[in-house]
Amino acid sequence: MGEPEFEQAYKELTSTLEASTLFEKNPEYRKALEVVSIPERIIQFRVVWEDDSGKCQVNKGYRVQFNSALGPYKGGLRLHPTVNLSILKFLGFEQIFKNALTGLNMGGGKGGADFDPKGKSDNEIRKFCVAFMTELSKHIGADTDVPAGDINVGGREIGYMFGQYRRLRNQWEGVLTGKGLNWGGSLIRPEATGYGLVYYVEHMINYASGGKESFSGKKVAISGSGNVAQYAALKVIELGGTVVSLSDSKGALIAEEGKGFTPEDISKIAALKLKRQALTALEGHSYKYVEGARPWKHVGKVDVALPSATQNEVSQDEAEALIAAGCKFIAEGSNMGCTQEAIEAFENHRKSNKGSSIWYAPGKAANAGGVAVSGLEMAQNSQRLSWTDEEVDAKLAKIMKDCFDNCLATAKEYITPAEGEFPSLVAGANVAGFKKVAAAM
Ligand code: GLU
Repeated sequence: MGEPEFEQAYKELTSTLEASTLFEKNPEYRKALEVVSIPERIIQFRVVWEDDSGKCQVNKGYRVQFNSALGPYKGGLRLHPTVNLSILKFLGFEQIFKNALTGLNMGGGKGGADFDPKGKSDNEIRKFCVAFMTELSKHIGADTDVPAGDINVGGREIGYMFGQYRRLRNQWEGVLTGKGLNWGGSLIRPEATGYGLVYYVEHMINYASGGKESFSGKKVAISGSGNVAQYAALKVIELGGTVVSLSDSKGALIAEEGKGFTPEDISKIAALKLKRQALTALEGHSYKYVEGARPWKHVGKVDVALPSATQNEVSQDEAEALIAAGCKFIAEGSNMGCTQEAIEAFENHRKSNKGSSIWYAPGKAANAGGVAVSGLEMAQNSQRLSWTDEEVDAKLAKIMKDCFDNCLATAKEYITPAEGEFPSLVAGANVAGFKKVAAAM
Protein backbone atom coordinates (compact mmCIF):
# COMPACT_ATOMS: atom_id res chain seq x y z
CA MET A 1 0.00 0.00 0.00
CA GLY A 2 1.29 3.46 -0.87
CA GLU A 3 1.89 6.03 1.86
CA PRO A 4 1.48 9.34 0.00
CA GLU A 5 1.63 11.69 3.00
CA PHE A 6 4.63 9.94 4.53
CA GLU A 7 6.43 9.82 1.18
CA GLN A 8 5.75 13.54 0.72
CA ALA A 9 7.23 14.37 4.14
CA TYR A 10 10.24 12.11 3.52
CA LYS A 11 10.93 13.67 0.09
CA GLU A 12 10.50 17.18 1.47
CA LEU A 13 13.18 16.47 4.08
CA THR A 14 15.60 14.59 1.84
CA SER A 15 15.41 17.03 -1.08
CA THR A 16 16.74 19.81 1.16
CA LEU A 17 19.36 17.57 2.82
CA GLU A 18 20.63 16.52 -0.63
CA ALA A 19 20.84 20.13 -1.77
CA SER A 20 22.96 21.03 1.27
CA THR A 21 26.58 20.16 2.08
CA LEU A 22 25.51 17.98 5.04
CA PHE A 23 26.28 14.55 3.50
CA GLU A 24 29.53 15.84 2.02
CA LYS A 25 30.63 16.96 5.48
CA ASN A 26 29.16 13.91 7.30
CA PRO A 27 29.00 10.91 4.92
CA GLU A 28 27.94 8.65 7.81
CA TYR A 29 24.64 10.55 8.10
CA ARG A 30 23.38 8.85 4.91
CA LYS A 31 22.98 5.64 6.87
CA ALA A 32 21.34 7.58 9.69
CA LEU A 33 18.76 8.85 7.17
CA GLU A 34 17.98 5.30 6.09
CA VAL A 35 17.62 4.23 9.73
CA VAL A 36 15.57 7.22 10.89
CA SER A 37 13.02 6.75 8.10
CA ILE A 38 11.76 3.49 9.63
CA PRO A 39 9.72 3.76 12.85
CA GLU A 40 11.20 1.95 15.84
CA ARG A 41 7.77 0.46 16.46
CA ILE A 42 4.15 0.80 15.28
CA ILE A 43 1.31 -0.29 17.53
CA GLN A 44 -2.09 -0.90 15.93
CA PHE A 45 -5.13 -1.82 17.91
CA ARG A 46 -8.88 -2.16 17.94
CA VAL A 47 -11.03 0.30 19.90
CA VAL A 48 -14.45 -1.05 20.81
CA TRP A 49 -16.95 1.28 22.49
CA GLU A 50 -20.66 1.59 23.08
CA ASP A 51 -22.68 4.46 21.56
CA ASP A 52 -25.63 6.24 23.23
CA SER A 53 -28.14 3.82 21.72
CA GLY A 54 -26.29 0.89 23.30
CA LYS A 55 -24.82 -0.30 19.99
CA CYS A 56 -21.27 -1.61 19.66
CA GLN A 57 -18.89 0.58 17.60
CA VAL A 58 -15.34 -0.17 16.50
CA ASN A 59 -12.42 2.02 15.33
CA LYS A 60 -8.78 1.58 14.38
CA GLY A 61 -6.27 2.94 16.91
CA TYR A 62 -2.55 3.56 16.38
CA ARG A 63 0.63 4.76 18.02
CA VAL A 64 3.73 5.25 15.89
CA GLN A 65 6.83 5.21 18.14
CA PHE A 66 9.13 6.68 15.53
CA ASN A 67 12.41 7.62 17.17
CA SER A 68 13.67 7.76 20.75
CA ALA A 69 17.28 8.86 20.20
CA LEU A 70 16.65 12.19 21.97
CA GLY A 71 14.22 11.11 24.67
CA PRO A 72 10.82 9.48 25.27
CA TYR A 73 8.57 9.36 22.20
CA LYS A 74 6.57 12.59 22.20
CA GLY A 75 3.77 13.76 19.95
CA GLY A 76 0.04 14.19 19.75
CA LEU A 77 -3.01 12.03 19.20
CA ARG A 78 -5.31 12.86 16.27
CA LEU A 79 -8.95 11.78 16.12
CA HIS A 80 -10.25 12.20 12.59
CA PRO A 81 -12.00 9.94 10.07
CA THR A 82 -9.06 10.41 7.65
CA VAL A 83 -6.49 9.03 10.13
CA ASN A 84 -4.47 6.16 8.67
CA LEU A 85 -0.90 4.89 8.94
CA SER A 86 0.44 7.10 6.14
CA ILE A 87 -0.82 10.23 7.90
CA LEU A 88 0.45 9.13 11.33
CA LYS A 89 3.85 8.15 9.89
CA PHE A 90 4.19 11.56 8.23
CA LEU A 91 3.22 13.30 11.45
CA GLY A 92 5.53 11.12 13.56
CA PHE A 93 8.40 11.69 11.14
CA GLU A 94 7.94 15.48 11.24
CA GLN A 95 7.68 15.30 15.01
CA ILE A 96 11.17 13.76 15.37
CA PHE A 97 12.86 16.80 13.81
CA LYS A 98 10.45 19.35 15.29
CA ASN A 99 11.13 18.03 18.77
CA ALA A 100 14.89 18.19 18.07
CA LEU A 101 14.46 21.86 17.08
CA THR A 102 12.94 22.72 20.48
CA GLY A 103 16.32 21.94 22.06
CA LEU A 104 14.58 19.72 24.63
CA ASN A 105 15.15 15.99 25.04
CA MET A 106 12.16 14.44 23.35
CA GLY A 107 11.93 11.68 20.74
CA GLY A 108 9.20 11.64 18.10
CA GLY A 109 5.89 9.80 17.91
CA LYS A 110 2.26 10.25 16.89
CA GLY A 111 -0.97 8.38 17.29
CA GLY A 112 -4.71 8.52 17.03
CA ALA A 113 -7.72 6.81 15.57
CA ASP A 114 -10.13 7.06 12.63
CA PHE A 115 -12.87 8.09 15.08
CA ASP A 116 -14.99 11.08 14.00
CA PRO A 117 -16.06 13.24 16.99
CA LYS A 118 -18.46 15.23 14.77
CA GLY A 119 -22.05 14.50 15.71
CA LYS A 120 -21.01 12.49 18.78
CA SER A 121 -22.28 13.32 22.29
CA ASP A 122 -19.84 14.15 25.11
CA ASN A 123 -20.71 10.79 26.61
CA GLU A 124 -19.75 8.98 23.40
CA ILE A 125 -16.48 10.90 23.17
CA ARG A 126 -15.72 9.95 26.77
CA LYS A 127 -16.49 6.30 26.14
CA PHE A 128 -14.29 6.29 23.06
CA CYS A 129 -11.37 7.98 24.89
CA VAL A 130 -11.60 5.51 27.78
CA ALA A 131 -11.62 2.52 25.40
CA PHE A 132 -8.73 4.01 23.40
CA MET A 133 -6.61 4.51 26.54
CA THR A 134 -7.42 1.03 27.85
CA GLU A 135 -5.27 -0.33 25.02
CA LEU A 136 -2.80 2.54 24.60
CA SER A 137 -1.90 2.46 28.31
CA LYS A 138 0.00 -0.80 27.76
CA HIS A 139 2.52 0.95 25.54
CA ILE A 140 3.17 4.39 27.09
CA GLY A 141 4.68 5.87 30.26
CA ALA A 142 6.21 9.12 31.54
CA ASP A 143 9.71 7.94 30.52
CA THR A 144 8.61 5.84 27.54
CA ASP A 145 6.08 7.67 25.40
CA VAL A 146 4.13 10.81 26.32
CA PRO A 147 1.18 11.60 24.01
CA ALA A 148 -0.69 14.92 23.87
CA GLY A 149 -3.41 16.51 21.77
CA ASP A 150 -3.65 17.15 18.04
CA ILE A 151 -6.68 17.68 15.77
CA ASN A 152 -9.90 17.02 17.80
CA VAL A 153 -7.99 16.18 20.97
CA GLY A 154 -7.98 19.02 23.52
CA GLY A 155 -8.11 19.32 27.31
CA ARG A 156 -11.44 17.44 27.57
CA GLU A 157 -10.22 14.37 25.65
CA ILE A 158 -6.84 14.39 27.42
CA GLY A 159 -8.79 14.44 30.71
CA TYR A 160 -10.88 11.38 29.82
CA MET A 161 -7.74 9.51 28.75
CA PHE A 162 -5.65 10.60 31.73
CA GLY A 163 -8.37 9.48 34.15
CA GLN A 164 -8.46 6.04 32.56
CA TYR A 165 -4.65 5.72 32.70
CA ARG A 166 -4.65 6.51 36.44
CA ARG A 167 -7.49 4.07 37.05
CA LEU A 168 -5.63 1.27 35.30
CA ARG A 169 -2.18 1.91 36.80
CA ASN A 170 -3.10 3.20 40.25
CA GLN A 171 -0.39 5.82 39.92
CA TRP A 172 -0.09 9.49 39.03
CA GLU A 173 2.53 10.21 36.41
CA GLY A 174 2.88 12.84 33.69
CA VAL A 175 2.06 10.37 30.94
CA LEU A 176 0.06 12.87 28.87
CA THR A 177 0.62 16.57 28.29
CA GLY A 178 -2.01 19.19 27.63
CA LYS A 179 -3.60 18.33 30.97
CA GLY A 180 -5.92 20.75 32.77
CA LEU A 181 -4.32 23.32 35.05
CA ASN A 182 -5.54 21.90 38.34
CA TRP A 183 -4.48 18.33 37.56
CA GLY A 184 -0.90 18.70 36.41
CA GLY A 185 -1.13 20.81 33.27
CA SER A 186 1.10 23.76 32.44
CA LEU A 187 0.07 27.38 32.09
CA ILE A 188 0.38 28.59 28.46
CA ARG A 189 0.12 25.04 27.01
CA PRO A 190 -3.21 25.77 25.27
CA GLU A 191 -1.78 29.01 23.85
CA ALA A 192 1.70 27.64 23.06
CA THR A 193 1.45 26.54 19.42
CA GLY A 194 -0.30 29.71 18.24
CA TYR A 195 1.82 32.07 20.36
CA GLY A 196 5.03 30.26 19.38
CA LEU A 197 4.10 30.53 15.69
CA VAL A 198 3.65 34.29 15.99
CA TYR A 199 6.92 34.66 17.97
CA TYR A 200 8.73 32.78 15.20
CA VAL A 201 7.24 34.96 12.45
CA GLU A 202 8.03 38.11 14.46
CA HIS A 203 11.73 37.09 14.15
CA MET A 204 11.30 36.55 10.39
CA ILE A 205 9.77 40.01 9.97
CA ASN A 206 12.41 41.60 12.17
CA TYR A 207 15.30 39.95 10.30
CA ALA A 208 13.89 40.64 6.83
CA SER A 209 13.28 44.31 7.60
CA GLY A 210 16.65 44.86 9.27
CA GLY A 211 14.92 45.38 12.63
CA LYS A 212 12.51 48.05 11.31
CA GLU A 213 9.21 46.14 11.18
CA SER A 214 7.04 43.92 13.35
CA PHE A 215 3.49 42.52 13.28
CA SER A 216 2.20 46.01 13.97
CA GLY A 217 0.12 47.18 11.01
CA LYS A 218 0.39 43.86 9.14
CA LYS A 219 -2.58 42.11 7.52
CA VAL A 220 -2.60 38.45 8.41
CA ALA A 221 -4.54 35.60 6.76
CA ILE A 222 -5.05 32.57 9.02
CA SER A 223 -6.76 29.28 8.17
CA GLY A 224 -8.34 26.95 10.70
CA SER A 225 -10.27 27.88 13.83
CA GLY A 226 -9.02 25.34 16.35
CA ASN A 227 -6.56 25.79 19.14
CA VAL A 228 -3.60 26.86 16.95
CA ALA A 229 -5.55 29.35 14.82
CA GLN A 230 -7.36 30.89 17.82
CA TYR A 231 -4.24 31.69 19.83
CA ALA A 232 -2.22 32.74 16.78
CA ALA A 233 -5.02 35.20 15.98
CA LEU A 234 -5.14 36.55 19.55
CA LYS A 235 -1.36 37.08 19.60
CA VAL A 236 -1.38 38.81 16.19
CA ILE A 237 -4.13 41.16 17.43
CA GLU A 238 -2.18 41.81 20.66
CA LEU A 239 0.91 42.74 18.61
CA GLY A 240 -1.07 45.24 16.52
CA GLY A 241 -1.76 43.15 13.40
CA THR A 242 -5.13 42.62 11.69
CA VAL A 243 -6.49 39.09 11.25
CA VAL A 244 -8.51 38.98 8.04
CA SER A 245 -9.52 35.31 7.83
CA LEU A 246 -10.19 32.06 9.67
CA SER A 247 -11.78 28.87 8.35
CA ASP A 248 -13.27 25.48 9.14
CA SER A 249 -13.67 22.26 7.18
CA LYS A 250 -16.66 23.67 5.26
CA GLY A 251 -15.38 27.07 4.20
CA ALA A 252 -13.59 30.32 4.98
CA LEU A 253 -14.73 33.28 7.08
CA ILE A 254 -13.34 36.48 5.53
CA ALA A 255 -13.39 39.91 7.16
CA GLU A 256 -14.79 42.72 5.04
CA GLU A 257 -12.34 45.26 3.60
CA GLY A 258 -10.79 47.31 6.39
CA LYS A 259 -12.17 45.04 9.16
CA GLY A 260 -10.53 42.35 11.25
CA PHE A 261 -11.39 39.74 13.87
CA THR A 262 -11.63 40.98 17.46
CA PRO A 263 -10.73 39.03 20.63
CA GLU A 264 -14.51 38.79 21.32
CA ASP A 265 -15.01 37.08 17.93
CA ILE A 266 -12.29 34.59 18.80
CA SER A 267 -14.02 33.78 22.14
CA LYS A 268 -17.28 33.19 20.27
CA ILE A 269 -15.45 30.88 17.86
CA ALA A 270 -13.84 28.97 20.74
CA ALA A 271 -17.30 28.38 22.24
CA LEU A 272 -18.70 27.20 18.87
CA LYS A 273 -15.78 24.82 18.36
CA LEU A 274 -16.25 23.25 21.78
CA LYS A 275 -19.82 22.44 20.74
CA ARG A 276 -18.48 21.18 17.38
CA GLN A 277 -20.54 23.78 15.49
CA ALA A 278 -19.68 25.42 12.15
CA LEU A 279 -18.33 28.96 11.76
CA THR A 280 -21.34 29.92 9.64
CA ALA A 281 -23.02 30.82 12.95
CA LEU A 282 -20.66 33.83 13.11
CA GLU A 283 -21.49 35.19 9.67
CA GLY A 284 -22.78 38.71 10.08
CA HIS A 285 -22.21 42.30 9.15
CA SER A 286 -18.37 42.21 9.29
CA TYR A 287 -17.69 38.83 7.69
CA LYS A 288 -18.62 36.76 4.70
CA TYR A 289 -18.48 32.96 4.68
CA VAL A 290 -17.13 31.49 1.44
CA GLU A 291 -18.50 27.99 1.24
CA GLY A 292 -16.14 25.17 0.21
CA ALA A 293 -13.08 27.42 0.03
CA ARG A 294 -9.84 27.99 1.90
CA PRO A 295 -9.00 31.62 2.64
CA TRP A 296 -5.93 32.11 0.39
CA LYS A 297 -7.63 33.25 -2.83
CA HIS A 298 -10.25 35.34 -1.02
CA VAL A 299 -8.29 37.54 1.37
CA GLY A 300 -7.03 40.21 -1.04
CA LYS A 301 -3.77 41.94 -0.17
CA VAL A 302 -2.05 40.43 2.88
CA ASP A 303 1.44 40.59 4.41
CA VAL A 304 1.48 37.29 6.31
CA ALA A 305 -0.21 33.89 5.85
CA LEU A 306 -0.42 31.33 8.65
CA PRO A 307 -1.94 28.02 7.48
CA SER A 308 -3.16 26.51 10.78
CA ALA A 309 -5.79 23.92 9.86
CA THR A 310 -4.34 20.68 8.47
CA GLN A 311 -1.87 19.15 6.00
CA ASN A 312 -1.75 20.17 2.32
CA GLU A 313 -4.01 23.18 2.81
CA VAL A 314 -2.04 25.47 0.47
CA SER A 315 -1.82 24.31 -3.16
CA GLN A 316 0.50 25.67 -5.86
CA ASP A 317 -2.34 27.85 -7.22
CA GLU A 318 -3.06 29.24 -3.79
CA ALA A 319 0.66 29.85 -3.16
CA GLU A 320 0.82 31.81 -6.41
CA ALA A 321 -2.29 33.78 -5.43
CA LEU A 322 -0.66 34.69 -2.10
CA ILE A 323 2.54 35.77 -3.86
CA ALA A 324 0.50 37.88 -6.30
CA ALA A 325 -1.37 39.43 -3.34
CA GLY A 326 1.96 40.70 -1.99
CA CYS A 327 2.23 38.24 0.91
CA LYS A 328 5.81 38.26 2.24
CA PHE A 329 5.77 35.75 5.08
CA ILE A 330 4.28 32.25 5.16
CA ALA A 331 4.65 30.08 8.25
CA GLU A 332 2.87 26.82 9.02
CA GLY A 333 0.88 26.45 12.23
CA SER A 334 -0.29 23.13 10.80
CA ASN A 335 2.01 20.20 10.03
CA MET A 336 2.94 20.08 6.32
CA GLY A 337 0.38 22.82 5.63
CA CYS A 338 1.84 23.46 2.17
CA THR A 339 2.05 20.98 -0.70
CA GLN A 340 5.52 20.37 -2.16
CA GLU A 341 4.49 22.44 -5.22
CA ALA A 342 3.46 25.36 -2.98
CA ILE A 343 6.81 25.19 -1.13
CA GLU A 344 8.61 25.25 -4.48
CA ALA A 345 6.64 28.31 -5.57
CA PHE A 346 7.70 30.15 -2.36
CA GLU A 347 11.30 28.93 -2.50
CA ASN A 348 11.70 29.82 -6.19
CA HIS A 349 10.37 33.27 -5.46
CA ARG A 350 12.84 33.61 -2.59
CA LYS A 351 15.75 32.63 -4.84
CA SER A 352 14.84 34.86 -7.76
CA ASN A 353 13.62 37.99 -6.00
CA LYS A 354 16.31 38.59 -3.41
CA GLY A 355 15.38 41.24 -0.85
CA SER A 356 11.73 41.58 -1.88
CA SER A 357 11.08 37.85 -1.76
CA ILE A 358 8.55 35.77 0.10
CA TRP A 359 9.93 33.87 3.09
CA TYR A 360 8.57 30.45 4.05
CA ALA A 361 8.93 28.62 7.40
CA PRO A 362 7.90 24.96 7.71
CA GLY A 363 5.73 23.65 10.55
CA LYS A 364 8.49 21.64 12.15
CA ALA A 365 10.13 24.94 13.12
CA ALA A 366 7.28 27.46 13.19
CA ASN A 367 4.77 25.37 15.17
CA ALA A 368 7.29 23.77 17.56
CA GLY A 369 6.02 25.93 20.44
CA GLY A 370 3.22 23.49 21.29
CA VAL A 371 5.39 20.47 21.83
CA ALA A 372 8.02 22.70 23.46
CA VAL A 373 5.59 23.69 26.22
CA SER A 374 4.57 20.02 26.44
CA GLY A 375 8.25 19.38 27.23
CA LEU A 376 8.06 22.10 29.89
CA GLU A 377 4.91 20.43 31.31
CA MET A 378 6.89 17.17 31.60
CA ALA A 379 9.68 19.03 33.42
CA GLN A 380 7.19 20.62 35.86
CA ASN A 381 5.52 17.25 36.52
CA SER A 382 8.89 15.64 37.28
CA GLN A 383 9.75 18.44 39.69
CA ARG A 384 6.25 18.48 41.25
CA LEU A 385 6.23 22.22 40.59
CA SER A 386 4.10 24.66 38.60
CA TRP A 387 5.72 27.63 36.94
CA THR A 388 3.92 30.97 36.50
CA ASP A 389 2.59 32.00 33.10
CA GLU A 390 5.35 34.63 32.84
CA GLU A 391 8.00 31.94 33.39
CA VAL A 392 6.50 29.54 30.83
CA ASP A 393 5.87 32.29 28.26
CA ALA A 394 9.45 33.57 28.63
CA LYS A 395 10.82 30.04 28.15
CA LEU A 396 8.56 29.56 25.10
CA ALA A 397 9.72 32.88 23.59
CA LYS A 398 13.36 31.89 24.13
CA ILE A 399 12.85 28.44 22.56
CA MET A 400 11.24 30.05 19.46
CA LYS A 401 14.07 32.59 19.17
CA ASP A 402 16.73 29.88 19.51
CA CYS A 403 14.84 27.77 16.95
CA PHE A 404 14.76 30.67 14.47
CA ASP A 405 18.44 31.50 15.03
CA ASN A 406 19.36 27.81 14.63
CA CYS A 407 17.42 27.49 11.33
CA LEU A 408 19.01 30.68 9.99
CA ALA A 409 22.58 29.85 11.06
CA THR A 410 22.30 26.25 9.81
CA ALA A 411 21.00 27.44 6.44
CA LYS A 412 23.95 29.84 6.15
CA GLU A 413 26.41 27.11 7.12
CA TYR A 414 25.11 24.31 4.88
CA ILE A 415 23.64 26.13 1.87
CA THR A 416 25.45 29.15 0.58
CA PRO A 417 22.78 31.68 -0.40
CA ALA A 418 23.44 33.90 -3.42
CA GLU A 419 24.30 37.55 -2.76
CA GLY A 420 21.33 39.38 -1.25
CA GLU A 421 19.22 36.23 -0.93
CA PHE A 422 17.50 35.30 2.36
CA PRO A 423 18.72 31.91 3.69
CA SER A 424 16.23 29.06 3.16
CA LEU A 425 14.43 28.52 6.47
CA VAL A 426 13.01 25.21 5.26
CA ALA A 427 16.46 23.84 4.43
CA GLY A 428 17.84 25.29 7.66
CA ALA A 429 15.10 23.63 9.75
CA ASN A 430 15.52 20.27 8.03
CA VAL A 431 19.32 20.17 8.27
CA ALA A 432 19.38 21.44 11.89
CA GLY A 433 16.69 18.98 13.10
CA PHE A 434 18.09 15.99 11.22
CA LYS A 435 21.71 16.71 12.22
CA LYS A 436 20.86 16.67 15.93
CA VAL A 437 18.99 13.36 15.68
CA ALA A 438 21.62 11.73 13.42
CA ALA A 439 24.41 12.70 15.80
CA ALA A 440 22.48 11.29 18.77
CA MET A 441 21.79 8.04 16.91
N1 GLU B 1 0.25 17.86 18.20
C1 GLU B 1 1.24 18.87 18.47
C2 GLU B 1 2.29 18.88 17.38
O1 GLU B 1 1.98 18.60 16.24
C3 GLU B 1 1.78 18.82 19.89
C4 GLU B 1 2.40 17.52 20.30
C5 GLU B 1 2.76 17.46 21.80
O2 GLU B 1 2.56 18.41 22.51
O3 GLU B 1 3.27 16.40 22.18
O4 GLU B 1 3.42 19.23 17.57
